Amino acid sequence: MTQKQWYATQVKTTSSQREAIEYGLMEAGARGTETIASHDLTQITGYFARPVDETRLRGALEDALRIYGCRTDKALQLNITEFADHDWLAEWKSNWQPVAVGRFIIGPPWLSETEALDSVVTDRGSDTILIRINPGMAFGTGTHETTRLCLKAMQRHFHGGSFLDVGTGTGILAIAAAKMSPALEGQTALTTIIACDIDPDAIEIAKQNAGLNGVLDRIGFRIGSVDESTESADLVCANLTEPVIVALLPALLGAACGRLVLSGILAEQVEMVKARLLELAVIDFEIDQDGEWIALTI
Ligand code: SAH
Repeated sequence: MTQKQWYATQVKTTSSQREAIEYGLMEAGARGTETIASHDLTQITGYFARPVDETRLRGALEDALRIYGCRTDKALQLNITEFADHDWLAEWKSNWQPVAVGRFIIGPPWLSETEALDSVVTDRGSDTILIRINPGMAFGTGTHETTRLCLKAMQRHFHGGSFLDVGTGTGILAIAAAKMSPALEGQTALTTIIACDIDPDAIEIAKQNAGLNGVLDRIGFRIGSVDESTESADLVCANLTEPVIVALLPALLGAACGRLVLSGILAEQVEMVKARLLELAVIDFEIDQDGEWIALTI
């Protein structure tokens, strides 16, 4: 089988022109772009399936810069490279190895179940749960400490019932909850799972991931956050950031009729969260740490 051959074009530019150049490369027929940004240089590579006509490409980039209102007086540096026998997509994919968190294995959708399971553990138990997440789309692929702390807390404290995922990102925690409590055949699920996010794109991505896992109809997705009117759940997970957690704390406590998991807190920020909890008369919680990250379970 012959490998796919890609033609890569690199454009050195500045951060203010980033979006325009990415757009221009796609307009010129690129199948994808990759951007490497350092403090003083932005280098954007467009990947084309066919050799690129430099005049046409230059025209597309100049049009894009004009549409985006960028100055075009400086000549663009085009650096056209042919990546023979190089399948960049395959390479990117091969960098996404499944990860294990307790009984969960989180793998990308292109690996078969056997490949995903075999690549991680040797002595897995029968209660292993495979979660498929399309990486690179939203936060929550299972590699980040803050997500891992939530998944671990869920394993200790989620035994069915209702679950609320505040800031669902890829949907990973809601999908984990749905897979921990499979719907009984012929019966409606015993679990109510709600996932919300203020970012509409994240909700779209989370829905796609839920579909990949066959649990789309088990999760109620909603654009938004928590407030006093939010229906309460037995377990609430909020993997956010410290300022957002502190601001939402009364609403989060109100939404949890069982336990509340707060994650996304740096070790140096934990005292601020504890102080706010104390003000709200909460003195009893578990603390888990992974690297510099802390999760509190109330
Ligand atoms: N639950 C996932 C993703 C966490 S990233 C995981 O554990 O890996 C945090 C998410 O919270 C982001 O998708 C962000 O859009 C969302 N978010 C930020 N502020 C929010 C708020 N006030 N209410 C709800 N979601 C919020």
